[in-house]
Amino acid sequence: MSFGLAARVATVGVAYYAGAWFGVQYSAPTSGIALIWPPNAVLLAAFLLARPREWPWYAAVVVAAELVAAVPTFPLVAATAFSLVNVFEATVAAAWLRRIAGPRFRFDRLRDGVAYVVIAGIVVPAVAALAGAAIYLALGATEAGFLAQWRLWWFGDALGLLILGPAILTAADWWRRRDREVAPSVPGSTARVAEATAFVGAAALLTVAAFAPSELGAAAFFVEPALLVALGIVAAVRYGVTGASVAVAVIAAVAVVTMSVGGGPDREASALRSILSAQGVLAVLAFVSVGSALVLDELRRQRARLERQEVQLRDQNERLERSVTERTEAWARAARDLEHANARLARLATTDYLTELPNRRAFEETGERERRRAAADGVPVAVLVFDLDRFKTVNDRYGHAVGDRVLRAVAAPVRTALRPSDLLARTGGEEFSVLLVDADARQATEVAERIRRALETTTVEHDGASIVVTASFGVAAVRTPDEPLASLAERADAAMYRAKRAGRNRVAN
Ligand code: GH3
Ligand code: MG
Ligand code: MG
Repeated sequence: MSFGLAARVATVGVAYYAGAWFGVQYSAPTSGIALIWPPNAVLLAAFLLARPREWPWYAAVVVAAELVAAVPTFPLVAATAFSLVNVFEATVAAAWLRRIAGPRFRFDRLRDGVAYVVIAGIVVPAVAALAGAAIYLALGATEAGFLAQWRLWWFGDALGLLILGPAILTAADWWRRRDREVAPSVPGSTARVAEATAFVGAAALLTVAAFAPSELGAAAFFVEPALLVALGIVAAVRYGVTGASVAVAVIAAVAVVTMSVGGGPDREASALRSILSAQGVLAVLAFVSVGSALVLDELRRQRARLERQEVQLRDQNERLERSVTERTEAWARAARDLEHANARLARLATTDYLTELPNRRAFEETGERERRRAAADGVPVAVLVFDLDRFKTVNDRYGHAVGDRVLRAVAAPVRTALRPSDLLARTGGEEFSVLLVDADARQATEVAERIRRALETTTVEHDGASIVVTASFGVAAVRTPDEPLASLAERADAAMYRAKRAGRNRVAN
C-alpha cells in the first residue's frame, strides 16, 4: 500500500467518521434514525475517484470509522450490520455509475449528473433501506412500522448522497484540473464572495425560520420551505452544480441542527412525523436545485460550444473570402495581361516591323473597310502604288543594312505629303501603297506627283555619300462605287509598271 493511498484512505476514514458522528449526533432521539446520513457520500465519492482495486481499503476503513462513531449508541452487531449496508450501498452505486460514466465520473457531464441523481439519489438508497429497516425492526428499537422505517432510511441516505456527493466530486474534479484551468466559477471578485456570503446567511436564516418550532404548527410549514426551494434554484442559476449543492448542504445542516434542538416546526407532531416531513422538504429542495443546476450547466456548456463554433465558422469564412478575393484579383490580372498580349499580337500582325507602317494585310483589310465607308458616304477614293527605282543597286552598292535605312527614310516625307485620313502601307519589299479618301484621279495624280518630288530631295547619308532614291507611281481612281480595293490596287499596279517602262521616276494612270 503506497503512502498516497494510505493518506487517501485515512482521509476518507476521518471524513466518514465526521459524517457518521453528525448523523448519529443529530438523530431523532426516539427513533434513533438519522434525518440525513451524510457519510455514504464520502465513501461513494472515494469509490468514484479511486480505481476499483483500491475499493476494499476504503470499505475497510469505513466499517472501522462507523463502529467508532456508532458503538456507544448501538450494539456492536447492529453497528457492524449498518456499516455493511452502507458499504453495500456505496459499492453498488459506484459500480453502476462507473458502467455509465466510465473511469472518470464528471458532474459537468449531463449524462453523469443525471445518472448520479437517479442512481445515488433514488434507486440504490431505496434498495439499501430495505436492509437497514429490517435490521432496525430486528433490533426492536423503533416505534415505526417497516414502511415508515424504510422511508426514513431511504430519504436519509438519499439526502446525504444528493447533498454532499456533487460538492465533493465537483471539488475533486476542480482540484485535479486546477493547473490547466482558471479558477472555479464560485468565488472570484470580492463582490461575488460578498454576494455568496449574504446568500448563505439568508438561506440559513430562512432555514431556521422554516424548521424552528412554531405554534402555528404543520399549517405554517409551507411558505418557508417553498422559499427555500426558490433559493436553491437561485443558487443553481448563479453558482452552478457546486454552488447549488453547497447551498443545499448548508440548508440541510442548519435544518438538522435546528430540528435536533427544537424538535421540528410542529410541536404537536411526533418525532417520526417531523423527520418525515423535513426529509420531504429537503428532498424536493435537493432534487430541484441540483437537477436544475445540472441542466443549466449543460446549457451553458452548449452555448459556449456554439459560440466557439461560430467564431471558428467566422474565421473560416474570412479565410475563404480572402482567398476568393485573391484569386479574383489574380484572375483579373491575368485577363489584363492577356488583353495586352492580344493587342500586341494584333499590332504585330498588322504592322511592318522595319518601317512601322501598316503591312499589306492591314492595307487590304482596313483599306477595304475605308473604301466601303467612303462609297456609302458617296465619297470618291483612289489608290496610289509606288515602287522604288533600281533599289537592287542600292543594296548591291551599300549593303542590305543601308537599304533598310533608306526604306525607313522614305516613310517620313510620304507621310507629310498625305492627309491623316489617307492610309499608307508597305505592301511589298520596296513597294508602298496609299488609299486616298475623297480624291478623284486628278487629285490622286497630284498627290503622287508631290510625293515623287519629295523623294527626289530626300537623301540618306552614308560614308560621305548622299543616297537618293526615286520611285515610279501608278494611280487608279474608282470607276464605280462598288469597285473593290483589290481591283483598284491591281489597276494602280499596272499603271505603276507602265511608269517603270516609260523610264521610271514618274506617275502613270
Ligand atoms: P526596279 O524596281 O526599278 O525595276 O528595279 P529594282 O532593283 O528595284 O527591282 P527588283 O524588284 O528587281 O528588286 C527589288 C529589290 O529590292 C530586291 C531586294 O534586294 C530589295 N529589297 C526588297 N525588300 C528589301 C528590304 O526589306 N530591305 C532591303 N535592303 N532591300 C530590299
Ligand atoms: Mg524597284
Ligand atoms: Mg519591286
